[in-house]
Amino acid sequence: MIPSKAYGKAADCDLLIVGAGMVGAVLALACGQAGLRVIVVDSQISAPPPPGGYDLRVSAFTLASRAIFRNLGIWDDLVARRVCPFREMQVWDSRGSGAIHFDAADLGEAQLGYIIENAAIAHAAHAHISRLPTVRYLCPVDLVRLEVNDAGVTAVLSDGKPVTAGLVVGADGGRSQVRRLAGIDSRSGSYGQVAIVANVHTSVPHGEIARQVFLAGGPLAFLPLCDANLSSIVWSCDSGHATSLLGLEDTAFCRQLEEQFGDSLGRIGPVGARAAFPLGFAHADHYVATRVALVGDAAHRVHPLAGQGVNLGLLDAAALAEVTKNAFRCGRDIGAFGTLRRYERWRKGANFMMLEVTDAFKRVFGTDSPPVRAARNFGLTAADAIVPVKRLIMRRAVGLDGDLPPLARVTRAAD
Ligand SMILES: Cc1cc2nc3c(=O)[nH]c(=O)nc-3n(C[C@H](O)[C@H](O)[C@H](O)COP(=O)(O)OP(=O)(O)OC[C@H]3O[C@@H](n4cnc5c(N)ncnc54)[C@H](O)[C@@H]3O)c2cc1C
Repeated sequence: MIPSKAYGKAADCDLLIVGAGMVGAVLALACGQAGLRVIVVDSQISAPPPPGGYDLRVSAFTLASRAIFRNLGIWDDLVARRVCPFREMQVWDSRGSGAIHFDAADLGEAQLGYIIENAAIAHAAHAHISRLPTVRYLCPVDLVRLEVNDAGVTAVLSDGKPVTAGLVVGADGGRSQVRRLAGIDSRSGSYGQVAIVANVHTSVPHGEIARQVFLAGGPLAFLPLCDANLSSIVWSCDSGHATSLLGLEDTAFCRQLEEQFGDSLGRIGPVGARAAFPLGFAHADHYVATRVALVGDAAHRVHPLAGQGVNLGLLDAAALAEVTKNAFRCGRDIGAFGTLRRYERWRKGANFMMLEVTDAFKRVFGTDSPPVRAARNFGLTAADAIVPVKRLIMRRAVGLDGDLPPLARVTRAAD
């Protein structure tokens, strides 16, 4: 016999997801496809269609993220819009000879990853969700208050309406209101830096290669877009430097890029609109409490230099969906602490490791001390030369290794 769920049939939904960004939308789709009743709230109009031209916000997605998109049935929609594969990645230190080159062929893969517009992900997930009878979007509306007890969770929204559920998930980004209302602390800090993003034309085609140089002020990445002569740049630098870069005329900005990046992509320009995002790190002390779970940036924030932030968040969503679907299928309470602890154990250690490695990279490349400079240049060159080590790093970074949730497992048949 299937035992009854503790929060009762009278609840408005099984799962209330606060935040319809990439991570919240993917979680909603995964749980909705399994028949859970889901309500998604967001303070903004959710998932507006991305603009016709290239959106400013793009991310590098791993092979594990591609598997999630495939398994949820949104990959073909993303491809139909545009995704740019990259098969190689070049990383070098501007203050030495250290360099490392990653090639998908070393893993027996066709690609290392894909550059996709952020808005396209949430939009594609939303399009599929709208065909599911058990998932509803409520927006624009803010989460204001949470009341949790044995019988369920009640969320009070800014329109004054209460929503009752068995589990509330904070997918509401770095300033998570769910995390705050649940009383979960977070270890966080600012790097005192911002990342400038823009799309730039280059006279030399990028050749589907992602490139990143570590400058004295921070990393500068050129990510390939579908037009062979168009790249998305992510330039991390101190806030003061960023203000002066943002104030430059387009041509002067492009000259600065050429000066810092070198000539591997030839002349740079024209450049599109520029935007800047503050950079910091954060890790929640706990990912779960009774009837509460955190995913994505609500649980952890990481420097973009390793291109891992949303990829980790999608793995959170896939793991939490797995745990929740299993409990739901067996008639267990999806919001019970014991159920949710399995999710925390699954993801927290793996995320911690990636956060620490990324933070260490940021700090090691952020110093000009001669011994550290010598050591990191030696380290890069050595890691490049020792193929088994390089392969290990690559397998983890592209999402082929680790305790992956079923949704994120790459299957050969799909390649
Ligand atoms: C410059 C830059 C480049 C990056 N590049 C990469 C990359 O290449 N690869 C990578 O993996 N990661 C990258 N990242 C990280 C990535 O962008 C984030 O990890 C990702 O966007 C987090 O997604 P999320 O859905 O968890 O949160 P968000 O995208 O922040 O979404 C949160 C949602 O919650 C809603 N919300 C917030 N508060 C409330 C509330 N109180 N009530 C209701 N709704 C609420 C918001 O409206 C929003 O829709 C980059 C980050 C930056 C800054």
